[in-house]
Amino acid sequence: MPFNVSKDLSEAVAADALVIPCYESDTPLKGYKYAAAVEKLFHKGDFTGKGGQVLVLPANSAVAANRVILLGLGKKEKACIKTIGDALADVYRHASIDGQKVKTLAIATEVIGAPANIKAAELGRAIAEAAVFGSYRFLAHHTKDKHVKKNWVETTIIAGVPGKVVKDVTNGVEKGETIAIYTCHARDLVNEPSNYMKPTHLAAFAEKMAKEVPGLKCKIIHKAEIEKLGMGSFLGVNAGSDTPAHLIVLEWNGGKKGDAPLAYVGKGLTFDTGGYNIKPNSLGMKGDMGGGAATICALGAIGKLKLKINAVGIVPATENEISGKAYHPGDILHSMSGQTIEVDNTDAEGRLILCDALTYVQRTYKPRVIADMATLTGAAVVAVGSKYVALMGNDDDTISHFEHAFNRVGENVWQLPLPECYEKQLDSPVADMKNIGGNPGTITAGLFLKRFIDEGQKWVHLDIAGSALYDGDNWGFWTGKMPTGSPVRALVEYAETCFADAKHKLDKEHGHRHGDGRVMKR
Ligand SMILES: [Zn+2]
Repeated sequence: MPFNVSKDLSEAVAADALVIPCYESDTPLKGYKYAAAVEKLFHKGDFTGKGGQVLVLPANSAVAANRVILLGLGKKEKACIKTIGDALADVYRHASIDGQKVKTLAIATEVIGAPANIKAAELGRAIAEAAVFGSYRFLAHHTKDKHVKKNWVETTIIAGVPGKVVKDVTNGVEKGETIAIYTCHARDLVNEPSNYMKPTHLAAFAEKMAKEVPGLKCKIIHKAEIEKLGMGSFLGVNAGSDTPAHLIVLEWNGGKKGDAPLAYVGKGLTFDTGGYNIKPNSLGMKGDMGGGAATICALGAIGKLKLKINAVGIVPATENEISGKAYHPGDILHSMSGQTIEVDNTDAEGRLILCDALTYVQRTYKPRVIADMATLTGAAVVAVGSKYVALMGNDDDTISHFEHAFNRVGENVWQLPLPECYEKQLDSPVADMKNIGGNPGTITAGLFLKRFIDEGQKWVHLDIAGSALYDGDNWGFWTGKMPTGSPVRALVEYAETCFADAKHKLDKEHGHRHGDGRVMKR
């Protein structure tokens, strides 16, 4: 979507609609032609500026735009990028759904950027993200009325930007748009049904994406080589499927040659029947590759933003099917690490494909930090709900850096412990361990994966079973009635601000970033 950052006063900008964001019970609109009209509405109580409140006004001689949309931002003291993004994304959602023919939307930034904590670059980013996320639809398989279902907003004019921060806002817009586009790619991948999203499709997407990002490399490791690598655990899960396993490998070398990379590892289970421990209801199981989608798309965004780090993304991709070749409950799998696993439950397959990918990434790349992510356990939804990511790990600093990264982009994360007292539950009488350890299911899954992490290797595990697939009410401007693409935004934030030698000093308590650009104040 084209964005135009303009120094022109918003009242002078020609557009189909001008959004005038206002804070609650606050009328700092003096000096603008439309101020009197807006203040009157405030006084009459027709508009209060409450977060998310929208009032559409017809053409008015005070503005050049065809109509005015008053948008409530809530209390000024509480203003942050998330509250602004939430309100703006709704405007784009409605402009689209109602088909109001708002092709050009102008946003008045004169008021919005007034709080001292709103940085120009971050405001630009929030507007771009709100526009892309608010406009998101998954229309790949619609054949009728596509033009009606499509978003109507074609151009966004960010108006009234002070000359000295035009560059900052523009940079923020470019970054926000890139991150939002790649997050939406992850949403598309999760939305695609399993007949259009087999491991072959996921691998083809990664290859195509890498071709479009200069410097990003993609390599697909096919089944014969996976066998040679000894990934018996991954292959055990794949055994029942007619589609061979694919190991997707993405490499970004933006840092110094030889610097240990950041490694993201994502579960690419393109359809999960549960195997012989069959699921009573497999609806939604097309999304069991949410972690793989996030890994692939985070690498795409990291490359597109040319981050000065080395990073790898590893996605073991397979289906978990039922057939005469499928693995059975009770089977023993020999993992790449050498450890043996008794399959106590064929539906606990995510950890079986991840453990081999974790061994592979450690042996091949010796990463500085590994984060794996997976729609791993239904127990995670019970433990932390759908609006939180469950986070576990083996290093306090790394855990805290990930928490900061999630907080800064407005995504929720909740740390769970990995206590030793549950270790025994993974004991097997016939192998080194079982693949399922009972309650608490999210934690015993984390403990299972920890057994594949080498001594001294910094590692976090993100269980995104709730956050990636959630499609209820909006809990952030990047969500909606569709899978969320979580946690692509947080992965990019971590890569940029925590991994790259903490360029930005972090405020330990609040996770705010300091010293990155000017504020919007006029
Ligand atoms: Zn499963």
